Amino acid sequence: MNADNPNFSAAGRHDWTRDEVQALFDLPFNDLLFEAHGVHRKHFAPNQVQVSTLCSIKTGACPEDCAYCPQSVRYDTGLEKEDLLAVEEVVAQARAAKERGATRFCMGAAYRSPKQKQLQVICEMVREVKALGMETCATLGMLNADHATQLRDAGLDYYNHNLDTSPEYYGEIITTRTYQDRLDTLEQVRNAGMKVCCGGIIGMGEAAADRVGLLLALANLRVHPESVPINQLVQVPGTPLFGSETLDPLDFVRTIAVTRILMPQSHVRLSAGRSEMSDETQALAFFAGANSIFYGERLLTTDNPDLDHDQHLFAKLGIDAEPAADSEDLADSPTPGATDRAGADVRS
Ligand code: SF4
Repeated sequence: MNADNPNFSAAGRHDWTRDEVQALFDLPFNDLLFEAHGVHRKHFAPNQVQVSTLCSIKTGACPEDCAYCPQSVRYDTGLEKEDLLAVEEVVAQARAAKERGATRFCMGAAYRSPKQKQLQVICEMVREVKALGMETCATLGMLNADHATQLRDAGLDYYNHNLDTSPEYYGEIITTRTYQDRLDTLEQVRNAGMKVCCGGIIGMGEAAADRVGLLLALANLRVHPESVPINQLVQVPGTPLFGSETLDPLDFVRTIAVTRILMPQSHVRLSAGRSEMSDETQALAFFAGANSIFYGERLLTTDNPDLDHDQHLFAKLGIDAEPAADSEDLADSPTPGATDRAGADVRS
């Protein structure tokens, strides 16, 4: 196998089989990284990483029961709840993120699904953040067609909605919405013409076969998500998954590498869990094809590496922040030099 093999470089494959994905996971580590890095180089500048900032615009009191999430109302995690923030506050945070070099601003709200009144406020946030010249992303729970249309009309570029894990393991993690509910929301986002940010979480006690199942589900979507966050579980005391077996960092890197091969043109994001990863693990993950991070010391509710540390790591690795996507407005952004970084929360 090599990166010139159409199976491993074509953007358009959506018919991966379980055996093929399993075979990638089973490759010797060096062979897998070689393949993944070859695919990565073919589609992306190898020393650039896209930088986003995540802002929790409404925190906690979520009725869903996602077993990893400190924002669920069902678990006592000591999380401080916060109502929907005012538009001005969110715009001020976006402006500060832009000054620090972020090109995309992601707004996360702990809802099962947004209500119309809430959506109107969020659409106003989207319009104002967009007017700053940033790309916009939101994660607000399940959407129907009308929600998706309103967000698109407000100028939302990306919608995040994760599959979380394999269809087979899903019932162990969430019971209050189905896998199909998630696929339906992704379909609404696509139908409205927005870009999709969709990935999952590993280290939740799943079997290796469930990592295969997750990536198979993502890679066989009718259009690959433009952004694929691969989260490592952040174990929060009080959540059911606290105390899960710790993930082997090499298994994390393997998952990144297979993601890169399966979805060659997607940005693969190192998301939640980065503050618990060594520099060496992150460097290997970048080599394996990760090319997006969140920067900022806080994700939605969990810690992220501090800016200085991220700047230092980028400088050591010779990595620069990817310029914002083709928008004249964005060309006015400060050059986000080899200094910006972050990680992300698990949200869905
Ligand atoms: S992951 Fe999202 S939907 Fe699930 S409990 Fe947390 S905030 Fe609610």
